[in-house]
Amino acid sequence: MIKYNYIFLFILIISCGQKNDKSSNLSEGESDTTMVQKNGLLQIAGNKIINKHGEQVSFAGNSFFWSNDNWGGERFYNSSTVNWLKKDWNTTIVRAAMGIEDPGGYLDNKIANKNKIKIIVEAAIDEGIYVIIDWHSHHAEDNTQEAVLFFEEMATLYGNYDNIIYEIYNEPLDVSWSNIIKPYALTVIQSIRAIDPDNLIVVGTPEWSQRVDLAAADPIISFSNIAYTLHFYTIHHQQWLRDRATEALNEGIALFVTEWGSIGYSIIDPETDEWMLWCKTNKVSHCNWAVNDKEEEWSIVLPGASTSGGWTDEDLTDAGKLSKNIILNWIY
Ligand code: MG
Repeated sequence: MIKYNYIFLFILIISCGQKNDKSSNLSEGESDTTMVQKNGLLQIAGNKIINKHGEQVSFAGNSFFWSNDNWGGERFYNSSTVNWLKKDWNTTIVRAAMGIEDPGGYLDNKIANKNKIKIIVEAAIDEGIYVIIDWHSHHAEDNTQEAVLFFEEMATLYGNYDNIIYEIYNEPLDVSWSNIIKPYALTVIQSIRAIDPDNLIVVGTPEWSQRVDLAAADPIISFSNIAYTLHFYTIHHQQWLRDRATEALNEGIALFVTEWGSIGYSIIDPETDEWMLWCKTNKVSHCNWAVNDKEEEWSIVLPGASTSGGWTDEDLTDAGKLSKNIILNWIY
């Protein structure tokens, strides 16, 4: 009898040990409640982005590189990379950047590019993080109907998921906001809203998404839940652009940094520090450019690094180390 009691005790200890092991392996990011479950559908309230509890929120994460066939960055468009960014970087938002008019982009090869976007979107849904579906174009107004058809399909497939954010025009060039970009945006937004009435839509602004002042002067008022794109690369865009962005916020529009880059090849960048202070102060979300191993100042990993995550510090570029530290320590 005593012998059987010992066996029972032994089994009890083993099973308790397993239970404890499981709970101790759960980091905060892997808890039962995902970031999207906690925050729900993102909503614009004045110049703020708020969660389902009405609290102002901001998210930090990564933009993938252009999806174009054979440009290199498309090799990272897989669920393992999304999983790794969430687990190791605490990324809460990723951006799938679908190239449009350049060689190897959507207009050349629709199925392949769309499938890459869907892989990232579905991985983000599985991981419980936000995902931006980005029409990564500099000339979107030349192909409005293609954008309409694409976003109608995305809204049909994914419009019920709180994870989804539509970015309908990455970086317009030096073209008119009121006469070119806004009419394009209204057409695409109308087609999305006919299917998905509520997910956040982000609209690019003139001059590579720096003229947020022009959008602020003539905002979209016939649809709700609209934010405007602000991009910065710290080597070019400094206090003058922060001042312009602050004014746009004060005018009452919400901003979203769907793409930003540091000075490059350095983990020390005082301008990045200034920008991140600005993003924190104003609770503006941001995605770092870019998940790629191209020999270029903004790639987060070194040439030849794994294309499916699992990176050590030695695999990261200095820009990657800088952005990882920011994303990992972002306060939501
Ligand atoms: Mg919806």
